[in-house]
Amino acid sequence: MAVNKDLYQQILLEIKAKNVSLVAVSKTKPAEDILSLYKCGQKDFGENYVKELIDKYAELPKDIRWHFIGHLQTNKVKFIAPFVSLIQTVDSLKLLKEINKHAHNNNRIIDCLLQIHIASEETKFGLNEQELNLIIEQFDSSTMKNINIIGLMGMASFINDEKKIRSEFAYLNSLFSKYKTSLKNNISLSVLSMGMSNDYNIAIQEGSTMVRIGSLLFGAR
Ligand SMILES: *Cc1c(COP(=O)(O)O)cnc(C)c1O
Repeated sequence: MAVNKDLYQQILLEIKAKNVSLVAVSKTKPAEDILSLYKCGQKDFGENYVKELIDKYAELPKDIRWHFIGHLQTNKVKFIAPFVSLIQTVDSLKLLKEINKHAHNNNRIIDCLLQIHIASEETKFGLNEQELNLIIEQFDSSTMKNINIIGLMGMASFINDEKKIRSEFAYLNSLFSKYKTSLKNNISLSVLSMGMSNDYNIAIQEGSTMVRIGSLLFGAR
């Protein structure tokens, strides 16, 4: 299936009016599809798999901002640290430390989002509120100079229940508001990444500042 450029322009108009940014999720899709959207002006792309991301990075224009949105293993951080723009799926202090180390080795500061578990499905990754609180408490910006925690990310349940999806996003937004300015550790959250093809409208109504859309733009996977 071809890239849906008309829908891309339409979504862009819709969300820009609300100051929401768009990450085009290109996992499993060929580089030519990414290039096609890039030529329409899209610069932010999201990928879930390290190997796929490094291959696409090598092949595609260097001003693309790559978002890592899959589950990230600590032993793979080094492969993406030289170029990744935003790691959206940080779910442990151990991972933060590893990102900091490789960011330092690459002489970079890497922006990160903390992934929060908001869905009812057991299988999804992410922190609960208690773990989020602990990470924010333990985060020491004076020793982790090469990390910038700039926001939160979450995925709602894969269900057809708008009320439930809405309440999950509202909950994530409440955490975002609560931890927005954590003066203690110099943390200042400005990005709330929530909303995908099926639920981005609900997510925006519930306060999203960044949506991650794949299948609507690139076709079903
Ligand atoms: C695949 C994926 C998306 C995009 O999903 P679509 O339903 O195709 O829009 C967004 N966020 C994450 C974390 C994903 O893994």
